[in-house]
Amino acid sequence: MALTKKGQFNYGDTQADIQAELVDYSATTTGYEPTHFAEAVCRCGERVFTLSIDDTEGAAVRQCRSCQRSHAMGDSAEYLEDANLKECECPCGAGAFELTVGVALYRNTDDVRWIYIGARCPKCGLTACYADWKNEFSDYRKLLEKI
Ligand SMILES: [Zn+2]
Ligand SMILES: [Zn+2]
Repeated sequence: MALTKKGQFNYGDTQADIQAELVDYSATTTGYEPTHFAEAVCRCGERVFTLSIDDTEGAAVRQCRSCQRSHAMGDSAEYLEDANLKECECPCGAGAFELTVGVALYRNTDDVRWIYIGARCPKCGLTACYADWKNEFSDYRKLLEKI
């Protein structure tokens, strides 16, 4: 598994490559390195989803491409009321992704500081951070359980 850069984008071989992409992304943006990760898996076992995000409100909703079940990721349900969700599309035109979320913590605590929503397109392999925002959830394990 590895990321390959082609033009302005990175391409990954597997879902595990999303983690490295989120670390790279944080290094050139926030400076808060994500250290804990969770891969999104539907109750039905599916790992490919459409993804809708509002990074101003801090909300992300995924919908399973197999069973169509929608799920508000992490603590997103608390922010959906005012959210204006936009569906993500890969630059290749596809609109379904493998999803991995990373969190950066405050030093020596379990408290979340920043959240990163990473996605890989299974069709073309393009792997990117689709959104990130400040998130102050108090126990990262509980947040990541709900990805
Ligand atoms: Zn499903
Ligand atoms: Zn693609």
